[in-house]
This record gives sequence, structure tokens and C-alpha cells, in this order.
Amino acid sequence: MVVYVKMIRNLSSASFAALSATVPKSPATCLTRLVHSRTYDVAVIGGGIVGLASARELILRHPTLSFILLEKEKELALHQSGHNSGVIHSGIYYTPGSLKARLCVRGATMAYKYLDKKGLPYKRCGKLIVAVEREEIPRLKALYERGQKNNVQDLTMIDAKGIREREPFCRGLMALDSPNTGIVDWRQVSLAYAKDFQEAGGTVVTGYEASDIAMAKESPAGATEGMKYPIAIRDSKGTEVRCQYVLTCGGLFSDRLSQISGCSPEPRIVPFRGDYLVLKPEKHYLVKGNIYPVPDPKFPFLGVHFTPRMDGSVWLGPNAVLAFKREGYKMYDFDIRDFGNALFFRGLQKLVLKNLAYGVGEMYRGVFIGAQVKILQRFIPELSLRDVLRGPAGVRAQALDRDGNLVDDFVFDGGVCDVGSRVLHVRNAPSPAATSSLAIAEVVADEAERRFLL
Ligand SMILES: Cc1cc2nc3c(=O)[nH]c(=O)nc-3n(C[C@H](O)[C@H](O)[C@H](O)COP(=O)(O)OP(=O)(O)OC[C@H]3O[C@@H](n4cnc5c(N)ncnc54)[C@H](O)[C@@H]3O)c2cc1C
Repeated sequence: MVVYVKMIRNLSSASFAALSATVPKSPATCLTRLVHSRTYDVAVIGGGIVGLASARELILRHPTLSFILLEKEKELALHQSGHNSGVIHSGIYYTPGSLKARLCVRGATMAYKYLDKKGLPYKRCGKLIVAVEREEIPRLKALYERGQKNNVQDLTMIDAKGIREREPFCRGLMALDSPNTGIVDWRQVSLAYAKDFQEAGGTVVTGYEASDIAMAKESPAGATEGMKYPIAIRDSKGTEVRCQYVLTCGGLFSDRLSQISGCSPEPRIVPFRGDYLVLKPEKHYLVKGNIYPVPDPKFPFLGVHFTPRMDGSVWLGPNAVLAFKREGYKMYDFDIRDFGNALFFRGLQKLVLKNLAYGVGEMYRGVFIGAQVKILQRFIPELSLRDVLRGPAGVRAQALDRDGNLVDDFVFDGGVCDVGSRVLHVRNAPSPAATSSLAIAEVVADEAERRFLL
């Protein structure tokens, strides 16, 4: 069982003693370490799949160092890692040679091996990328070539008859068949990484929102090692965690975590909410595997798709609308700081101007689900408005530069900042970062070793 130590508020011996009484036993190492130590060699901020995979990789490579993972929510992986399509991507879409291409293909292979080893459930149910209009066929063929260049295994092009054999209710002129695409519950995978981390001796603390990362001016109270742990992480109540090195993996808040360490807030994160529809159970027969459109190369999102879920449900979507709150999962969720940050950011103003029609269309389809169903009917004509219900939503962390360009690739950045070479930020980890998580963790750990001289 994963054990979280909640709310390390006042780091006095008395409060630690009180905490230890309320925390379930096992794994004992985690609790013991927190009770006896307020200092750590490495602190990881952010308990999503990227932070957890990276913390796991680092502790497995360096079992003699002490690690703490700090997460602001009461539970791990509640944001992007717990609100996504649940697809194990095979690596078709990404620019050959990019980190995304390399880490997705390697990450998917590693993910399947990990799931097998841990006995975690998944389905290799495959995916069709379907061209329904003639003008989409050249783009589909280009995707096939891209997939080959990225070393995606077993890709084939199939015709209309092949599509019907794979998906009897789907119509299309031609499709790219990717049998190695799968589905999994990425939150469950995140929690399995957390368990590995804790079993290796790592400490997980939830309910701790880092609000400052700085070089300390004094050694910790009662410390015998002087300034061995010069980085002071504090939350809004002033609770301090001291460490030698810090890795931030803040997802929707990666720019703010960078900023509080004195590094650049750019690229900025702009939140895009994706609303899903769900298929009514009596219509599940319409969809067997993943069905995706040919993506529009102008946008980073893959377009609304049909995705079977591990619990047997089928999700349709998501769209992509600008969210007024970074972790706002409802249409009217609003946060003045998030909204203001986005509104006054030149990069976003430029992006909105460039893509006004597209943005308005996405908002319209978010409000009027009939318009969304119309798009989906291009693939499954039998689908009707009566067959769907509004479903859950996810919010994507989209990094954006000041010229309004979407940052497409993963970005892992040391930055030039107050805490110097002691910090490493995961700045941009959009889809397929869940699929790529174990491979991202290798790159992050390599970079941490290089920077931190581990
Ligand atoms: C709608 C949607 C669909 C997607 N579909 C897929 C898919 O099918 N397949 C795939 O591979 N990928 C998919 N992705 C992408 C994938 O889910 C994300 O790339 C991945 O989960 C990112 O993980 P993360 O750890 O970087 O971010 P998150 O999961 O968001 O984790 C960041 C964590 O940092 C914590 N945090 C932030 N600030 C602080 C602070 N100050 N102090 C302490 N903690 C803090 C947050 O609470 C959060 O838990 C999808 C994403 C979305 C949104």
C-alpha cells in the first residue's frame, strides 16, 4: 500500500511524533527517514507521473542518497496524470529526431514491460488513424512515413475494407493501423511508481505546496553538517524542507515553480481544457479500439477521438478550449491569477489572434455537444446525440513562448537562476508524457547526474 505522510507542518520533534502515530505502517523506511531527518539530498516537487517516474529512477540509481517528493494535493497524480485519455501512444506523430519521438517509442516499450512485470492491467487494443476525406490521404501517408522513421513497429496502411474489418461501424477511405497502441490507467501506473520509490526508501509528502525555492542563508537549526543542504524549499506557512538539489515537475505549474526558484517563467504554461463525452453503455459495441482523426498539423492536439477505457467505458473527445483556471475542470471554473497571467501574456495574445476562428469553434463545440457529435459522425455515422452524455474533463499544460509559438517538444531545463546548478526543471511535458514517463525519467536522471555531479 502506498503510504503518504501528510502535511509536514511545523517540523518540530513533537509534531513529527504526533504524525507518526497517525500514519499507517509500512514502508517503515519512509516514516523513519521523515522523523529523523529534515534534510534530503534530493527533493522532487510534483507528484504527477513525470515527478514520480523521475524520483523512482533517481533513487533506484542512487540508493544511498536520501529523497523526498513533495506534492501539493492530498493525493498523488490527481491532475494531468489522472485526467487523460489513457492511451499508450506508439510514437507516430512526432518530428523524427525530437525528444517526443525518441522518448515515446522507448517509453511505450518500457511501459509495456513495466506493466507486465508489475501485473498491472492494460489492453493492446490498437488504433486506427482514419482519413475520411480525399485531401487527408497525403497527410495520412506522411504520418505513415513519419512513424517508420520513428521506428514504430508493425504500422500498416489499410483501405476501406480493412477499416470495416477492424472497426465494423467506422467509415473511412484509408487508415493507418497501429496495433501496438494500447490503453491503461495512467494514475494507477503513477501510484505504482510511487510505491517503488517508497519501497526504495524515498519519502512522499502530500499536502505540501512549495511556494519558495531559494539558497538558504543559514544552516538548518541543530544541523551538524553546516551548509551541506543549502536549498530551502518553503510552503506558504513557512514550513521548510532543506536539500542539496531540487527537481521540479509541476505540470500545469511548471512555469511558476521555475519562477519561484529565480529562473525564467518562460516558456509560460497556458491551460487548455479538454471536455470528453461518454458513450452510453448500450452503444459501446460501436467502438473496438482507438479511432483517431488525421491531425491538423497546425495544432499540437490530436483531435477528437474515440477511446475505450480500462473500466469498459468509451470516451469521445477531448476538444481544446482555453481554461480560465489551471486546474479548472468545469466550464465556469475561474481563477483571477491564472486568468490574469494568461490574459496579459503577449504570447497568448498572439496565439489567440492567429487562431481566433479555431478557438471559437472549439468553445462552441464545448457548449453545444451536437456540434461535437457531428464531427464524430464523420467516422461513425450511426452515432447520434442520444448516444452520448457529457463526461469528465482534463486540463493540458501547454507551454507557449512570447511570440505565441506553442512549444512542441519536451523541455528539461537547468536554467540560470538563484539556486544555480542545483535545480533542474521539467518545463514542458505534454502528451505523450505519460506513455514516455519511464524514458523521460532516464533523461531527467542523466541530466540530474550531469548537473548535480551525482
Ligand atoms: C486531456 C488530456 C489527455 C491526455 N492523453 C494522454 C494519453 O492518452 N497518453 C499520454 O501518454 N499522455 C496523455 N496526456 C498527457 C499526460 O497526461 C501528461 O503529459 C502527463 O500526465 C504530465 O505529467 P506531469 O507529472 O508532468 O504533470 P501532472 O500530472 O499535472 O503533475 C504535476 C504535479 O505537480 C503538482 N504541483 C504543482 N505545483 C506544485 C507545488 N508548488 N508544490 C507541490 N506540488 C505541485 C501538481 O499538484 C501535480 O500533481 C494527456 C493530457 C491531458 C490533459
